[in-house]
Amino acid sequence: MRPIYSLRWALILQVLVPLLAAMAVFTTIGLTTLERSAETRMQDEVELVARAVRLPISDSLEQGREQDVRQALESVFRIGRVYGAYVYDVDGELVAAVGAVNPATRKREVAELAAEGEQQGAYEQIQGQDVYSYFLPLSDSGGRIAGLLQVTRRGSDFQELAVQLRLQAVAVIAVAGGLITLMVLWGHRRAIGRHFDRLTGSMARVESGELAHRAPLDGPREIRSLSQALNTMLDSMARAEQEIARRRDAQLELEAQLRHAEKLAAIGRLASGVAHELGTPLSVLDGKAQRALRRAEPDAPEARALQDIRREVARMEHIVRQLLEFGRGQNRQYRRTRMGDLATAAAAALEQPFSAAGATLELQPCEPDPELYVDPIRLEQVLVNLLRNALQAGAGAVRVSWRPGDAGGLQLLVDDDGPGVPAESRKRLFEPFYTTKAVGEGTGLGLAVVHGIITEHGGQVQVEDSPLGGARFRVQFPLNAQRRDDVAEEITDGKS
Ligand code: ADP
Repeated sequence: MRPIYSLRWALILQVLVPLLAAMAVFTTIGLTTLERSAETRMQDEVELVARAVRLPISDSLEQGREQDVRQALESVFRIGRVYGAYVYDVDGELVAAVGAVNPATRKREVAELAAEGEQQGAYEQIQGQDVYSYFLPLSDSGGRIAGLLQVTRRGSDFQELAVQLRLQAVAVIAVAGGLITLMVLWGHRRAIGRHFDRLTGSMARVESGELAHRAPLDGPREIRSLSQALNTMLDSMARAEQEIARRRDAQLELEAQLRHAEKLAAIGRLASGVAHELGTPLSVLDGKAQRALRRAEPDAPEARALQDIRREVARMEHIVRQLLEFGRGQNRQYRRTRMGDLATAAAAALEQPFSAAGATLELQPCEPDPELYVDPIRLEQVLVNLLRNALQAGAGAVRVSWRPGDAGGLQLLVDDDGPGVPAESRKRLFEPFYTTKAVGEGTGLGLAVVHGIITEHGGQVQVEDSPLGGARFRVQFPLNAQRRDDVAEEITDGKS
């Protein structure tokens, strides 16, 4: 596994260390070159000194003036930094010596060197000291080799210089390395580190639950693109979550609607079953009362009682009809029809009760009058129920208006100037058997029937405040109900 280290360490290991190593290598090369040239210079210096005194020493040696030889030798100390100087004759015998103690050069070697007549330099040890010796042959006026001049210089002179140079180089490298390290770390912090810290800080905030937080878009381009990518990812995650929540809500809503529809269907089946059973005995009862009434004296108390029976039977038949209406659902007959025709038919059906109550009914059609594909008898029932409710609520003015609604459907409004529906009862208004009327006056089925029919047509109905001051029933449904209905049936078939 590859080691995991921070960006700072990567910078140190992959940039700084190679840089410092390269610096050290170049300095070592430079230092070696410098040392070599210093050594050569020192050797040249010794050679120059030897050459400067060569002639006077050669002369004095030829003439046998040992005193002069010595004086000339001593002058080497004035010319340059010299450790010692020695003069030998051709046999290797030491003639004169100045400076450091006598060299250890053996007689035979000196004689050989003198005989060769070649100048030459060499390192050797003199009494434990490292010295550099330069040998220069001395010749007489005839050009014959007369002896050998040896000039020495202490090797430690050079070594001290080298050590000094190395120390300086190490100090320079250490200071430069330290400065470069500081600069690289500071540069990393300024250019990258702090932006990364901010980015990771943003990530930590999001992780801790601040889902609305977004990384700031500043700093170098790469960091900015990272922040941008993070923000885009967070945005799409937020969108996805919203979409999931929306779908979950829609699913819950759909399930609630389905449960409600199933409940209504069950109640409907029960209601129509009861209604069927009651229908026949009620007509028998009414028929018998009618026949008995025909035989009774018109003003007799029995006749009044029989009339009361017939009135109550009629009421019960009305309830039974409503129950049957509520339970109906299968027997649908869709036809092409105009909204205006439906409204006119409903108004005509209620003309008598409206005029009896002194209430006005206004129809506000829209142009062109939309053509619907619906079950006209059931939609007329919707209008009749809504208008009758308005009248029963005590409205003096009722208005029916319609216009194109959302998504190509139709919107139908029934407004009245009655007392309106209080907010707390709006939720329960469409439930079967919910009524505010006195016992015997309302069945609570009128709006349940409205709701059932509109739902069958793929629409919705809701109650709100009317600009006329009373209640407004807003009904919306598609112009072509058949398709929605088939789909609903297919779903139901698929489920069963
Ligand atoms: P019912 O008319 O038999 O009571 P409905 O289902 O038709 O049954 O109505 C339920 C209740 O809704 C009524 O009892 C009444 O309180 C209220 N309601 C219906 N229409 C209106 C209206 N236009 N204005 C005020 N209240 C209304």
